[in-house]
Amino acid sequence: MTLDLQSIVDGIVSEAATAQDRGKVADYIPSLGCIDPAQFGIAIVTPDGSVHTGGDAAVPFSIQSVSKVFALTLALGKVGGDLWQRVGVEPSGSAFNSVVQLEAEKGIPRNPFINAGAIVVSDVVLGSGESRDAIGDILRFVRFVSGDGSVFIDSAVANSEADTGFRNVALANYMRAFGNMAHRVDDALKVYFHQCAIAMSCRQLAMAGRYLMMDGINPDTGRAVVTPVRARRILSLMLTCGHYDGSGEFAFRVGIPGKSGVGGGILAVVPGKASIAVWSPGLNARGNSKLGSEALERLAAATNWNVFTA
Ligand code: GLU
Repeated sequence: MTLDLQSIVDGIVSEAATAQDRGKVADYIPSLGCIDPAQFGIAIVTPDGSVHTGGDAAVPFSIQSVSKVFALTLALGKVGGDLWQRVGVEPSGSAFNSVVQLEAEKGIPRNPFINAGAIVVSDVVLGSGESRDAIGDILRFVRFVSGDGSVFIDSAVANSEADTGFRNVALANYMRAFGNMAHRVDDALKVYFHQCAIAMSCRQLAMAGRYLMMDGINPDTGRAVVTPVRARRILSLMLTCGHYDGSGEFAFRVGIPGKSGVGGGILAVVPGKASIAVWSPGLNARGNSKLGSEALERLAAATNWNVFTA
């Protein structure tokens, strides 16, 4: 059966337009607190290169933790499986910025998608260079995989987070105390805050997820960004850890690997079938985009896309 993706997208957009409860915009990062919650966008890219978009799919938003997928890809490229000595691969079941868990686990974060884990990943991406080189590497990578040189870092968001991200500073110092930071905390955090401040539209983000949809191949070059095994592992982590302590529920309701961010974006990838980005700034109680999660649930039901059935 051929799917009429555009009419599915149009249905999702009309439903989102009438939603009464749109969730709550994250305001702990001050510059995110003023985003209009009435916005909703969706983009779907399929392996043949078709792109279906709806709503505010061309509006750039702060991708926040979705950037952790790209930083993880780069860190694995630098140090390979050695990364797993410094970061675990288990769902956390705790808040994304939990300090308590880090103490119990002696400075080794549960997974690369909670904040502590992502800060270790930033520390790895820093390698032997300076923060600005690492920030440039991450931005270049995202531009490369999205095939779009206009992706940018919103420095107002990065600065806003640097001014207020005291918990992240605490997490990084705490890990340093356990010997799990190779660089100065300020340098690693600079990388982390800037990667979180990357601004992309749904269309750009869905394009950026293509290498994960295609077994690690960038369709623009036909070359491997990562091996098929690594693509599969990144997707496994997205499924088990990609939605904070709401990851189990997202897997249960949607069944597709996804990574969300507090800016209200979600990148979801159906291997071999679709790379999808949704965005709506209002978050649910677990900190995931409320309408974005609901849209993906509806899309998964309409297409039968998931990782559990052929
Ligand atoms: N930059 C945000 C923070 O560290 C990212 C949070 C998120 O999107 O999960 O709090």
